[in-house]
Amino acid sequence: MNKYAHMTYKHFILPVFLMASIAPVFSQQKNEKMTPKDTEVWEPVPPVVATPKDQAPSDAIVLFDGTNLDAWEPAKRPGEKAEWIVGGGTFTVNKPAGNIQTKQRFEDYQLHLEYYIPKDIDGEEQGRGNSGLFLASTGPNDEGYEFQILDSYENRTYSNGQLGSIYKQFIPLANPARKPGEWQSIDLVWTAPKFGTDGSLISPAKITAFINNVLVHNNVELKGETFYIGHPVYKAHGPSPIKLQSHGDPSKPISFRNIWVRELNK
Ligand code: MG
Repeated sequence: MNKYAHMTYKHFILPVFLMASIAPVFSQQKNEKMTPKDTEVWEPVPPVVATPKDQAPSDAIVLFDGTNLDAWEPAKRPGEKAEWIVGGGTFTVNKPAGNIQTKQRFEDYQLHLEYYIPKDIDGEEQGRGNSGLFLASTGPNDEGYEFQILDSYENRTYSNGQLGSIYKQFIPLANPARKPGEWQSIDLVWTAPKFGTDGSLISPAKITAFINNVLVHNNVELKGETFYIGHPVYKAHGPSPIKLQSHGDPSKPISFRNIWVRELNK
């Protein structure tokens, strides 16, 4: 016979409950015997990062400093010159030239980017200032994980396709779109998905993101790559370029400036 079979509520559960309920009292008494120094931790020392006003932090990789697209290449012709249009400290989508991507490949990072929808933008729904930020590109077209960029100022479309959506996966928590004709900002932390050597998913991609300083995703776990048609699916990949979308909508092209990333967990 089980030697604990005779035990009842008062023999077992009650004592455990009482011990758990008085544990905080013991902790409190222990704290009272401690000094402030007992809980000071001095190592490691966080690295110093200089943060000049309106510039990239000192440890960032600058992807566009206002002068050239040297950090970028056509997604369909890696190694060639990215032919979007640079001028006035900004660059503008050149729709016939197709998507562009970073020459460098990334895993986990913090990113800052500013974009501008022309004041006289036309079109509606998905056809109004459509571009996109592919957080990790897995092909030259629209393969990868798209963070939607669109003019969502008084321009309704499906919620999981509006500005700041993880395209057709996650609706943004808010719509912080400014009126066309004003610069806007995107700040985000991207954790790349991790795959085993057999191609199986070990951990999904994660994102926390802000548009114009407003939280739009809070540590969301992606379900896979984003698709125009069909449900999300993961396929194994390693470090990947960041890609900007040249969308085929007929509205005026949008512009970008001040793009930088800080690599994380390296
Ligand atoms: Mg798009």
